[in-house]
Amino acid sequence: MNQAMNLPVTEVKGIGDETAKQMEGMRIFTVGDLIEHFPFRYEDYQLKDLQDVAHDERVTIVGIVQSEPSIRYYGKKKNRLSVRLLVNQILITVTFFNRAFLKKYFQIGQEVTVTGKWDQHRMTIAGSECHPGRVEKEQTVVPIYSVSGKLTSKSLKKYIYQAMQQFADDIPEPLPPSFLEKYKLPSKKEAIYRLHYPSKDEATKHARRRMVYEEFLFFQLKMQAYRKINREQTVGEALKLDRGKVSQFVKRLPFPLTGAQERVIGDILKDIESDYRMNRLLQGDVGSGKTVVAAVSMYGVVNAGKQAALMVPTEILAEQHVSSLKPLLEPFGIQVELLSGSIKGKKRRERLERLQAGELHIVVGTHALIQDDVIFNDLGLVITDEQHRFGVEQRRVLRDKGEHPDVLFMTATPIPRTLAISVFGDMDVSIIDEMPAGRKVIETYWAKHDMLERVLTFIEKELKAGRQAYVICPLIEESEKLDVQNAIDVHMILQQHFQGKFAVGLMHGRLHSSEKDEVMEAFSQNQTQVLVSTTVVEVGVNVPNATVMVIYDAERFGLAQLHQLRGRVGRGEAQSYCILLADPKSEVGKERMRIMTETNDGFVLSERDLELRGPGDFFGAKQSGLPDFKVADVVHDYRALEVARGDAAEIVNQPNFWEEPSFYYFRKYLEQSGVFDGQKLD
Ligand code: ADP
Ligand code: MG
Repeated sequence: MNQAMNLPVTEVKGIGDETAKQMEGMRIFTVGDLIEHFPFRYEDYQLKDLQDVAHDERVTIVGIVQSEPSIRYYGKKKNRLSVRLLVNQILITVTFFNRAFLKKYFQIGQEVTVTGKWDQHRMTIAGSECHPGRVEKEQTVVPIYSVSGKLTSKSLKKYIYQAMQQFADDIPEPLPPSFLEKYKLPSKKEAIYRLHYPSKDEATKHARRRMVYEEFLFFQLKMQAYRKINREQTVGEALKLDRGKVSQFVKRLPFPLTGAQERVIGDILKDIESDYRMNRLLQGDVGSGKTVVAAVSMYGVVNAGKQAALMVPTEILAEQHVSSLKPLLEPFGIQVELLSGSIKGKKRRERLERLQAGELHIVVGTHALIQDDVIFNDLGLVITDEQHRFGVEQRRVLRDKGEHPDVLFMTATPIPRTLAISVFGDMDVSIIDEMPAGRKVIETYWAKHDMLERVLTFIEKELKAGRQAYVICPLIEESEKLDVQNAIDVHMILQQHFQGKFAVGLMHGRLHSSEKDEVMEAFSQNQTQVLVSTTVVEVGVNVPNATVMVIYDAERFGLAQLHQLRGRVGRGEAQSYCILLADPKSEVGKERMRIMTETNDGFVLSERDLELRGPGDFFGAKQSGLPDFKVADVVHDYRALEVARGDAAEIVNQPNFWEEPSFYYFRKYLEQSGVFDGQKLD
């Protein structure tokens, strides 16, 4: 087989050790890396009509000079030239920074060709290039490469050109011919060529389409292989559920299930009954009623003679779950206990013994639950709540621990559909897309910080009506210390403000867990009416009497997080409010505040958030579990991702996967990426 793509870049004529070193900084090591270092954008010099140009897009136009160029100087070194042009009956302004010497090109009544970024609102082009007269370039689309260190875009172009000269014929074709035909995709060689040497026709578009598909297909091959292995290679156990009893349990719940709850419970029970291991993600907005779904699932499993564990990220949450699960399950003879750091000594030993003996049916706790000394008699189901922060690899670790129970992940951070299939491509996904009837919409307002007085007056009004309020303090990146200080300051201000009238509690990450419990307890007993806190109350906390959520410096939070925080109120009968204190500087920041005031739907929010921030920022780069795609974009190329996902599933499930000659590159890729470590796909 051809190894040319794996040769070091120094095999390309003209690249010496020094250049190779520069390239290392850009993660280019091999010939293959170099020729797959694609332009990150293209400069378009094709003449366009301004009517067809979107805001912020680059454009080249020809205009007639209408005014003497004016030049303003700032300080010693800076200047700005501006001039008015008439472009097809439209009068616009063109500006250039620090290029006063261009002045000579702008003679009133003469034509000039200008390239730059179009600002539709100001009717201005921020110019980057300018030529006298009407200039139509021969190469109208010019590739722009990212470079770093001493490498210039120009020299990089030269090296890529040389590499293509020497090695283009060695570019392998990993996709079977039938795929190329089916989607009318160019060969890999053709595609790579077209991305470096774009043409005006559709060829470059198809080249990109081809590379996007290939990237997604390989990514999804891995995901689908994981999924297949999880389903078929790990011993699942087909439990016999007593559906009649499960229905009775559901009938005895204090409320009828929503249609969505019924549907996802159906998905889960089916998984439990099947002989493969459940690996399912349950997404449901804050307050959509996931806990009861967990309760029904655990009831079914315990009723069939097994045990269940519910894992949550914090002790507070664990305690809350225990107190809401006990009344539901104990009437049916099911034993539920907390097992966490705060349960110590004799009490802990006793619970562990009962667990091992199978007398304790359900345990709720933090991560420590599935570790070391916790031994189950017969664990059938593990549910983790609010664990969206796990990547693919971590999820595997969890599943591979000890026994082989069914696993259900629950998350209240709605993951945009577009990301869910990429990040959770190895899982089955169920969604609760319906709220229990009668929920009041939380009214959300955006206020500037200088309106704090009015906000305080509003809070006081609610407190006087017997309600409670949360006040969340800003999160300061990388400095828990400052974070805490902030909370302490705000706490002091509010204490003074409400002195003699209402009690103000303080909660932050530096408190011991017993102190946290006390603070939380005091708030939930209404001994404190206001709770100042950092984001530690983000998940799960449930105090129905709290009706006001105030968030300081709201612009610093992601939309998903703001939504989580907002979800702490609106849990009781009364109308609830969320007040965002924010002075965002950027348009995007303002837009985000507006979105918050406009919708209460977590899924809508998450889609918008993704659009505004991009997939990297959505989860935080490290947590997304997404590979770095060279060409593809999980948001914009979503359709292609769906197609690739279906194809990948089909490929890994083909009976002749291991023999089919045209799958050679698929097999090689999966073997190299370690998917089969110790396991076989057949
Ligand atoms: P989350 O999905 O955020 O974990 P919870 O499970 O805590 O939501 O449910 C939020 C509240 O809604 C709880 O008080 C719960 O008892 C209630 N609830 C859940 N399902 C229903 C339903 N079908 N009808 C009415 N109330 C419900
Ligand atoms: Mg919950």
